[in-house]
Amino acid sequence: MKADVSTARTGPAAEEAGGVLTIDLGAIAANWRDLKARAAPARCSAVVKADGYGLGLKPVALALANAGCDTFFVALLDEARRLRAALPTATIYVLDGLMPGTAGEFRKLRVEPVLGSWPEIDEWDAFARECGEPLPAAIHIDTGMVRLGLTPQEAQVLAERMRLLNFKPNLVMSHFACADEPKHPLNAKQISVFRELSALFSGVPASLANSAGLLAHKNSHFDLVRPGISIYGGCAVTGEDNPMRPVVRLDLRILQVRQAAKDESVGYGATQALRRDSRIAICAAGYADGVFRAVGSSDSRNGAEAIVAGRRCPLVGRVSMDLLAIDVTDVPEADVKRGDFATLVGDGISVDDFAAHAGTIGYETLTSLGQRYARIYCGG
Ligand SMILES: *Cc1c(COP(=O)(O)O)cnc(C)c1O
Repeated sequence: MKADVSTARTGPAAEEAGGVLTIDLGAIAANWRDLKARAAPARCSAVVKADGYGLGLKPVALALANAGCDTFFVALLDEARRLRAALPTATIYVLDGLMPGTAGEFRKLRVEPVLGSWPEIDEWDAFARECGEPLPAAIHIDTGMVRLGLTPQEAQVLAERMRLLNFKPNLVMSHFACADEPKHPLNAKQISVFRELSALFSGVPASLANSAGLLAHKNSHFDLVRPGISIYGGCAVTGEDNPMRPVVRLDLRILQVRQAAKDESVGYGATQALRRDSRIAICAAGYADGVFRAVGSSDSRNGAEAIVAGRRCPLVGRVSMDLLAIDVTDVPEADVKRGDFATLVGDGISVDDFAAHAGTIGYETLTSLGQRYARIYCGG
């Protein structure tokens, strides 16, 4: 199926918006193909939970489907519903599993729960018996994260009962707790526990690796890999060069450029006093748009940087809900004026660089972007 998603726009018009978020669907497709090649002969799916990591479920999913992806993971049933509307034939798994009373909706949408507890398995099994259909589902085993999934003992019991089930497990999976830290000893342990347990489900494809597993642990690929963050250009493996192409660019509108005198302070709380006479660019985005308060600056702490007229300039003072301030004193006066843009992500500033200033990770940057930007989808 081919769909034209080349230069669609969502959200307000760029002239009215506080910023322009540019999402490179070509880079998303290229990243997925790159990951698929690295994972071969394992098959490659795509994790598109949380609105395609904040970038827009439908355009992201169509770009991935056009690149050849046919298996997708979301977290919740409503995400699966929106994905099903975009992709009528894809295989769709719901990672958070089966909530009580929702089995009928799963069947109607032809999407599969990832079952990670006895109550879910019992409910899905009873529903399949009632329907008289071997409804498919994935089985989730917890190999050391203590989040979702059957314990190893429960998984063994289930494997022994395979022939008695009314539903049809078509994937057995687990999830890494520390794959982003390749040297962490829990990785090897989880791989070996999963190897042993998945083998008990003979004939059922196995899946363990997220992005970091795919990139850093070749022995974790099994039959299907489940990358998320790497598709979106984020860094999956801490402390290593990120081989993926950047996907997002965030340009914030400059509302005014103002003079301020040495010793005046900028913004709420007066947290940062100016050390010299300065020029300050006020931009139309803030923490309601995913520019975390924690990336602001104070007298004792530097904040994030933005690029204005080709120069790196520091954020100054606290980030407000809808506004932030950038010190543009070092940009020639003629080069920055009302209506220009400041680049918060892009041109060498990655989502992970930005996230680091807030003590967080690129995943949280992407999923916090908010809905107020003009979103431009290019390269589809
Ligand atoms: C989110 C998620 C993934 C994808 O993880 P990334 O680190 O983004 O690649 C894979 N599997 C499960 C179970 C997940 O929750």
